[in-house]
Amino acid sequence: MASVGPVVVVGAGVAGLCVALAAAPRPVLLLGRGAHAEDTASTLAQGGIAAALGKDDSVEAHIRDTLAAGASCNEQEPVRILAAGAADAVAWLEAQGVALDRDADGLLLGREGGHSAARIAHAGGDATGAGVMAALSAAALRAPHIHWRGGVEVDALRLRAGRVAGVRWRHCGGHDGHDGEWVDTDTVVLATGGIGALFERTTNPAGADGAGLALALAAGAQPRDLEFVQFHPTALDVRASSLPLITEALRGAGARLLDAAGRPLMDGVHPLGDLAPRDVVARQVWQAHCDGGLVRLDARRLGICWPCEFPTVLAVCIAHGIDPRVSPIPVTPAAHFHMGGLAVDELGRTSLPGLHAVGEVACSGVHGANRLASNSLLEGVVFGRRLGAHLASFREAGADQGAGDGETVQIERGPGLGADALRELRALMWHAAGPVRSTGRLQEAIARTGVLGAAGWQARLANAILVAALDRPASLGAHWRTDDGAFRTAGQGAGSDIGSRAHQAA
Ligand SMILES: Cc1cc2nc3c(=O)[nH]c(=O)nc-3n(C[C@H](O)[C@H](O)[C@H](O)COP(=O)(O)OP(=O)(O)OC[C@H]3O[C@@H](n4cnc5c(N)ncnc54)[C@H](O)[C@@H]3O)c2cc1C
Repeated sequence: MASVGPVVVVGAGVAGLCVALAAAPRPVLLLGRGAHAEDTASTLAQGGIAAALGKDDSVEAHIRDTLAAGASCNEQEPVRILAAGAADAVAWLEAQGVALDRDADGLLLGREGGHSAARIAHAGGDATGAGVMAALSAAALRAPHIHWRGGVEVDALRLRAGRVAGVRWRHCGGHDGHDGEWVDTDTVVLATGGIGALFERTTNPAGADGAGLALALAAGAQPRDLEFVQFHPTALDVRASSLPLITEALRGAGARLLDAAGRPLMDGVHPLGDLAPRDVVARQVWQAHCDGGLVRLDARRLGICWPCEFPTVLAVCIAHGIDPRVSPIPVTPAAHFHMGGLAVDELGRTSLPGLHAVGEVACSGVHGANRLASNSLLEGVVFGRRLGAHLASFREAGADQGAGDGETVQIERGPGLGADALRELRALMWHAAGPVRSTGRLQEAIARTGVLGAAGWQARLANAILVAALDRPASLGAHWRTDDGAFRTAGQGAGSDIGSRAHQAA
């Protein structure tokens, strides 16, 4: 029996585009909020994509580094698939037209925190995501099997006999009198990205609001490790809902974090000082902010070529009236990456038949409790292509029932919070589930999101994350509990191993 409808891919970031391209010749309907891929986190990626391509490097070393970063809380098989598939992923990206940076000897490989070798391929210096997304978007627009509908939001699923039978999309904004349109399909792939926008301080774009995750949870799909959120220590400290990233490569080049009195912030906190693990630095900056002081990154006397080496940082600072060559840069920690998400196997299958997830919305356990820098673009390419190839040729057992008899239910994500309630929720998440978490704050936030949950799906999703954080009493990786029985002050403790061997850039 033929499949029911096209493969519907929701989200047009790196993961969604890779699934769509690899699913050929099966027809794909690609649904995304942006006209194309301009609203994705993928486009913002700076540092690059990890692959053990150097002559002194190996897949085994990449695996070891990924496990060390993840506090060994990772699933072994996805980690092996990721590291073993990296070289092929990089070659495939180049074949799609991604202009990775090269010299006469071949690919230029950068070194980042937590990596024991130089293994970060990049494009346009620190503009890797933009380069990758431009090439993949162009390839998707050319592909005859892909129908790409931008400017739309998926907000409901239809289940028949307990498996996916359709999705509903609406025009973004939803106030155009359009009731939404149902697409019959037995195969839905959520590639809807992360949840950073649920936090007051984040490097993520507004679209990283967890909408796909919320819909899948409403439909009964199993979550995993929702409490594991990575916080970047140095976002630009300005008033904006999405904060520009100040790459860790600047600290690698010698920039120092200073407290309000101009003293080195990381001295005496960790043997690696400013290059301490990402979670350790984030907590120290957080603590300084809680104590009422500003934290600045002093990059004035580095002897670097700003326009050649850090054009993105220079441009965002200048745009906010800060010239990093003459003034220290104000920085803040910010929610950056969600290690948790929808529980999936190595083929992206969730616990709900017919529903798949890939990229940041998914949790195969590949990142464990903390992500190794530059492993997430790689995750999108490796697992996206893997899932697409699987869907091109294979039908799930029981898929026939999607078109047949059985009880049909419609799962709605439901209305979102109004602007004031959303602002309150983001502040609540930042203070209760940010880089430093305590039982009292988590309990208060759980109670408040329980009330707000009646008004909007974002609060119900936040509630699930808070409950997961409360339910893990021990600190692990990026999840830091002040009251885990072995109380340490915010900056102390070994932290996960991420960042311990070199600077970080992603
Ligand atoms: C500033 C920054 C720098 C980074 N640098 C690096 C780096 O150097 N290397 C690295 O490996 N990683 C980096 N990362 C992380 C990496 O970019 C992301 O984890 C990854 O790109 C996520 O890809 P994705 O395809 O899963 O999601 P995204 O790229 O976020 O795409 C998801 C899309 O789905 C859309 N969507 C969501 N819900 C719906 C819905 N209901 N209906 C329709 N559409 C929906 C969203 O609006 C979005 O457009 C960085 C992240 C940031 C924010």
